[in-house]
Amino acid sequence: MATISDNLQQLHQRLTTACTAADRPVQSVTLLTVSKTFPGDAVRAAFAAGERRFGENYVQEGLDKIAQLADLRSQLEWHLIGPLQSNKTRAVAEAFDWVHSVDRLKIAERLSAQRPQGLPPLSVCLQVNISGEASKSGCAVAELPALARAVAALPRLRLRGLMAIPEPTGDFEAQRAPHRALARLLAELNTTQDLALDTLSMGMSADLEAAIAEGATMVRVGTAIFGQR
Ligand SMILES: *Cc1c(COP(=O)(O)O)cnc(C)c1O
Repeated sequence: MATISDNLQQLHQRLTTACTAADRPVQSVTLLTVSKTFPGDAVRAAFAAGERRFGENYVQEGLDKIAQLADLRSQLEWHLIGPLQSNKTRAVAEAFDWVHSVDRLKIAERLSAQRPQGLPPLSVCLQVNISGEASKSGCAVAELPALARAVAALPRLRLRGLMAIPEPTGDFEAQRAPHRALARLLAELNTTQDLALDTLSMGMSADLEAAIAEGATMVRVGTAIFGQR
């Protein structure tokens, strides 16, 4: 059976190939290792193989894992990538380094107010409902400029960019379209709102090549590293 270290080696090869195909330097894409549902020992194995950034989907599971890996805390970056309810913002503001799933101002305001003074500003991405699905989380494209302006003004947050989870499809060109749309939105915000957003959080195990082709700077990968959940 392939080990986590084997899978990571293969995945980095995939990232290198995708960057080469897109004519981009391999350092322009950061890997976020998505450890949701896998135990702390799996994170330790990925850490031993060189990974330093970990993504969690569920707040309580993430908090438990951050506590289990407290000995490595100063070397790790913890990213919340799943839905966030307002009653959990304080714990998240105190424990995580990034939140990718901010989709409304109220959550951002609470995170900013609750971010401890002793920590650097919390890095956040705005999650965009790029496929326009009624059931999906993420802010509507039409609401994005106003939300970005308001979040960028919050003192204890650092607005880094945009995140999306496009509707799954197997076709490469179809995969590219929503990623291209998200990249355009980021470029528009930077020019029209005078922002300097540097992060496009897009691409997962099944579509990271398409995301990289369209400019992803951070791919969030779980299954290809740890196996099926
Ligand atoms: C689970 C998850 C991922 C990783 O997906 P894989 O298909 O396992 O690579 C990425 N982003 C988010 C928001 C997730 O919930």
